[in-house]
Amino acid sequence: MLKTTYKIENGLLSGCQWCPSPNYNARPLPNYSARPASNESSLNQDMLVTAIDLLVIHNISLPPAQFENGYIEAFFQNILPVNDHPYFAEIADLNVSAHLLVTRSGKVIQFVNLNERAWHAGASCFAGRVNCNDFSIGIEMEGTDHLAYTYQQYQALAAVTSAIRVAYPAISTSSIVGHSDIAPGRKTDPGESFNWPYFFQLISAADETSCDDHHSRFNDLDLNESALNEPGLNLPDAKEQQV
Ligand SMILES: [Zn+2]
Repeated sequence: MLKTTYKIENGLLSGCQWCPSPNYNARPLPNYSARPASNESSLNQDMLVTAIDLLVIHNISLPPAQFENGYIEAFFQNILPVNDHPYFAEIADLNVSAHLLVTRSGKVIQFVNLNERAWHAGASCFAGRVNCNDFSIGIEMEGTDHLAYTYQQYQALAAVTSAIRVAYPAISTSSIVGHSDIAPGRKTDPGESFNWPYFFQLISAADETSCDDHHSRFNDLDLNESALNEPGLNLPDAKEQQV
């Protein structure tokens, strides 16, 4: 049975598989000038929630165009078995992660607490702000740029997105983007196979928030076309350096 509602408490998504990745660090807190002096710990939590205002959709598959074999989980945990596939040798030394993965069957796996800084975006820019890892949540859709994502994935992604927007209300519909939007020319995921209008339809059904911007933005997209030829893979980002 596909899970349709999620809850987030202290950065953890309830009811999903927890598969902790070591590839994360703390988010930089915004430097607010008027900072109340009392209750420092809850203040930091509030500031953090306010500071997270971007949701980035990615895709990944390991090996390319092969699914639900546990290799993504191993990759984000830095235990990818290098000898299992020639491609793995190229990426095994990278230290990357995303907060969440939605598998082809709609299973959701969490790797990094949402309040922490996962290493998914690499060199990136959104609305004039660089280093999107600082202020974003990253979700991987298991797939490729050219192979249609599954119904179960869209349902799970929409449910997770709704829960995320309840916990992090600064994420508006206009700040839900693809990796290709924040790293143009360098990244192509989630690819032409990702049906943005359908995804936003599912979100707006859940929260009635206007998504006119995105609908007009993707007007040119042929909704029914998901080319099945030439499945591709987005190379993970360059090795993230801890600060
Ligand atoms: Zn990506």
